[in-house]
Amino acid sequence: MSHYAVFGHPVSHSLSPRIHAEFGRQTGIALDYTAIEATPAGFAQALDAFAAAGGKGANVTLPLKEAAFALCSVTSERARRAGAVNTLTRNDGQWHGDNTDGIGLVRDLTARLGLDLRGRRTLLLGAGGSARGVAPALLDAGVSELVIANRTPERADALVDLLGEPGRAHSRYWNDLVNEGDFALIVNATSASRDGLQEFSLPFALAASRTLAVDLNYGEAAIPFLAWAQAAGCRDRVDGLGMLVEQAAAAFELWHGVRPDTAGVYATLRGKDASLVTAD
Ligand code: NDP
Repeated sequence: MSHYAVFGHPVSHSLSPRIHAEFGRQTGIALDYTAIEATPAGFAQALDAFAAAGGKGANVTLPLKEAAFALCSVTSERARRAGAVNTLTRNDGQWHGDNTDGIGLVRDLTARLGLDLRGRRTLLLGAGGSARGVAPALLDAGVSELVIANRTPERADALVDLLGEPGRAHSRYWNDLVNEGDFALIVNATSASRDGLQEFSLPFALAASRTLAVDLNYGEAAIPFLAWAQAAGCRDRVDGLGMLVEQAAAAFELWHGVRPDTAGVYATLRGKDASLVTAD
């Protein structure tokens, strides 16, 4: 039996153990996958203990993705472009870091939902670990412009610097977004609703009827942003459940060399076969 885990703080909400158990059943691969609570201060020690106990791979969720990057001896190009790691693999006594968040989001929007991201003027809210993961993938998917706004503006500036595409990626102060016109894609990569935020305070002028609004959060945590998107008139509104399944499938393939089927797992978690998730 191979040992895998997801580390986070908090992590009890994570659906990853359920998703990886299902992928294992589907592909006939025996594994156990647990959720391990780790604060930023205790993460390095918890990861060492996991490796010492035979841990072969781990996912990392908030707020540990940038810390995970720093703990890896080897990193993929995707992880370096993000400066963040969500997938760790133990090889030759070292942690190898990759980032499957971006490919997970883009696969969900393009392959599952059939949406075209090319040419979309895009607003990314947040500059934490998951925003870092999805930003390079959005640029690769052909968005025309990527505007990044974050509560702490210095983190948005740092992400823009790391992306190294001054012609396409810029940071803006959250309070100045009102002057930005509208966007064809708005991605919420903040954990604001997990912090207890009930209502998103964003100008309606950011959205137009053709705007696709995407929240990386799912479940109750996606309600405030998707409710804002509905009130702002966005036609298409998507939560992060499909991305969650897709980033997990990409991690599973890295670890086991087999790509699992995602459609059935997504439908089971959703509880109904919705093609587009709306806040209705
Ligand atoms: P981090 O802790 O790394 O970053 C949190 C981000 O949210 C930062 O940009 C932070 O801003 C911002 N933020 C937090 N509270 C507030 C607030 N009250 N108002 C405005 N901004 C706020 O978390 P992650 O980036 O890893 O995760 C972000 C969210 O995305 C999480 O809720 C997570 O569950 C979800 N997620 C979903 C995935 C999926 O597969 N569906 C994958 C990855 C993440 P600041 O820099 O100012 O602190």
